[in-house]
Amino acid sequence: MIKGYEVVIGLEVHAELNTKTKIYCSCKNSFGLEVNTQVCPICLGMPGTLPTLNESVVDYAIKMGHALNCGINRICKQDRKNYFYPDLPKSYQISQADIPLCHDGYLDVLVNGDTKRIGIERIHIEEDAGKLLHSDKFDGSLVDFNRCGVPLIEIVSRPDMRSSEEAKAYLETIKSILKYIDISDCKMQEGSIRCDVNVSVHKPGEPFGTRCEMKNVNSFSAAVRGIDYEANRQIELLESGGTVVQETRRWDDAKGESISMRSKEDAQDYRYFPEPDLLTIVVPEEKVKMLKDTLPELPNAKIMRYVSDYSLSQTDAAMIVDVPEKSKFFDDCISAGCTAPKLLSNWILGEISKFMNEGVSIEQTSLTASMLAKLVNYISSGKISTAAGKTVFDAIINENADDIDKVIEEKSLAQISDISMLEELAKEVLAANEKSVQDYKNGKTNALGYLVGQCMKASKGKANPGAMKEIVLKYLA
Ligand SMILES: [Zn+2]
Repeated sequence: MIKGYEVVIGLEVHAELNTKTKIYCSCKNSFGLEVNTQVCPICLGMPGTLPTLNESVVDYAIKMGHALNCGINRICKQDRKNYFYPDLPKSYQISQADIPLCHDGYLDVLVNGDTKRIGIERIHIEEDAGKLLHSDKFDGSLVDFNRCGVPLIEIVSRPDMRSSEEAKAYLETIKSILKYIDISDCKMQEGSIRCDVNVSVHKPGEPFGTRCEMKNVNSFSAAVRGIDYEANRQIELLESGGTVVQETRRWDDAKGESISMRSKEDAQDYRYFPEPDLLTIVVPEEKVKMLKDTLPELPNAKIMRYVSDYSLSQTDAAMIVDVPEKSKFFDDCISAGCTAPKLLSNWILGEISKFMNEGVSIEQTSLTASMLAKLVNYISSGKISTAAGKTVFDAIINENADDIDKVIEEKSLAQISDISMLEELAKEVLAANEKSVQDYKNGKTNALGYLVGQCMKASKGKANPGAMKEIVLKYLA
């Protein structure tokens, strides 16, 4: 709520699918190759060529439909969306107009510990356009057609979000699902995910306000900035007696402002009509079911499971789940017998994330799930200290050690938990520090820390600190 206004947000997310080939031809679907090398007469829109639908595109879109709890239109069609732009050689984009492949779903997103359900209006398949390039050496626009015909899904939400924070959570959840079901690379910097944002404001209890659509939002943080800017712009306009007009605006993230592109009056008429060169899409019921069965456990369900089964905080669970490799490793360690999930999560988010952030994957190291499970169990049971655990871990990562017990023995890292040994040690230390013992008995409680510290030192750091403290307290009593 800003100045008594409620903000209403709907999002249209375009995600490039990571199929091997393009949607209507056999050209390679790959980013970053030399300009205009991944093209053929079909994706260049030469007259007389005929498109053939790539079946994987339909499969991928249906998977996303299932992940977002959508109904699937087993019989649907593709339509031509007509407009002129230099990056679109056919002068039309093949998309889906009135009958999308997936419809009426929802997504539960986690916002500040609460679950918020966002409606999904539809998911449809379509083709991407080429890309305009500009160079200082050339006074005009250049076109790279490699992206023409790259398959996209467009996911249209209902206007169910009420803050930029909810919009961000929605976008992050969508991205996470795309990664988990492995249908998109999700590389924002390469434009694999792009979004258009619809924003309106109104006083609670009153009908929705007029909405503006914002294009050119290329990152989730830009979406947050764009939404906040647009909401404030509309509120200020209304507060000063003006009215919001329905229009399309361009978000300029560098300047931090949106600029009007076109009003409703100049809205394009796309003259949609059924694509005559493609057959009706008919998906057998068994296939729809089979695709549902292939879905892995989805990120939100996983987060909730980590919270309920392993008592992780939602933040920690979300950070592990956000990276499929970390989450798989966490699950593998539990399967390998790790009995201290909270400590395990600390290691994954600490030491393991540290090397992963530098681009090293777990697989590239000698570390296996059973090794980390054992290491964490040893630390949690007090067999070795956390510091010793770190030494063992470093030996695994940096020296390719593969036997934890051997490292512990060689570097004599095992903690002394043998009570009689610790008692011997404490007796010697207390005898040698009579003054501190007297201080403690005279009420100087911080002498305790000193004495325990001396005992730890005498044990060369190998005493179990908890057990050591209890013994010292026993003798001081
Ligand atoms: Zn092609």
